[in-house]
Amino acid sequence: YVRIDNVTKHFQDAQVLKNVSLTIEKGELVTLLGPSGCGKSTLLRCIAGLHEIDAGGRMYIGDTDITQLAPKERSVGMVFQSYALFPNMNVYENISFGLKMKGMSPADYRGKVEKMIQLVDLTGREKSYPHQLSGGQQQRVALARSLVVEPKVLLLDEPLSALDAKIRKSLQIELKKIQQELSITTIFVTHDQEEALTVSDRVFIMNKGELVQYGSPADIYAAPTSEFVARFIGSYN
Ligand code: ATP
Ligand code: MG
Repeated sequence: YVRIDNVTKHFQDAQVLKNVSLTIEKGELVTLLGPSGCGKSTLLRCIAGLHEIDAGGRMYIGDTDITQLAPKERSVGMVFQSYALFPNMNVYENISFGLKMKGMSPADYRGKVEKMIQLVDLTGREKSYPHQLSGGQQQRVALARSLVVEPKVLLLDEPLSALDAKIRKSLQIELKKIQQELSITTIFVTHDQEEALTVSDRVFIMNKGELVQYGSPADIYAAPTSEFVARFIGSYN
């Protein structure tokens, strides 16, 4: 459903992505794992249209070639590590912002927004401002905000890493539930291998801008194809 075909990306002289090709099924949740600086965020940003890719690569969502499309035409939602909510808007306004921008009237989006607020378990907090919320609550607003516009693809760049372990766990479960309920194709970047195991259908491992192995979490753990992968996922030590 998401098809990345031979994507390469240079920043000036530095090659950050090297011929990355991968396919993700509709409704699948895959995790991108890899050492710091290996290109995970860059790949997500290329998919979202925040970076241009080098000539020769193509990217598709369904049958649509999105390579040249503007970010807002790609039907891709992205949540970053830092939540970046609008500080002067309350929860309800943050979540409804995207629908408002699409030209929907408040009466038309109210139902959608309320349902989303319920889904991320923020009922009763509609009027709170970001600074009045915990990190986990803010992250759920960010998630709701990107889901409410019904993207075809959701890109999550370490959305839980700023949170403490306990909240992270419960949000992992919640995230997986919402993702399945809406059957939304999701690429999830994390440093946390346990997190990757918990939430993902498949894991893609990157090193130095290249995709080095992919498969179900169990397969990768059972049969790493390189010493790098073995070491990285920790089955060596
Ligand atoms: P981390 O796990 O630390 O978030 P990452 O895998 O997400 O790392 P990227 O942020 O994709 O890594 O960065 C990959 C490489 O590209 C790094 O060497 C980084 O310095 C470089 N890079 C990223 N963005 C830019 C940019 N806008 N201009 C120049 N170089 C960049
Ligand atoms: Mg990153």
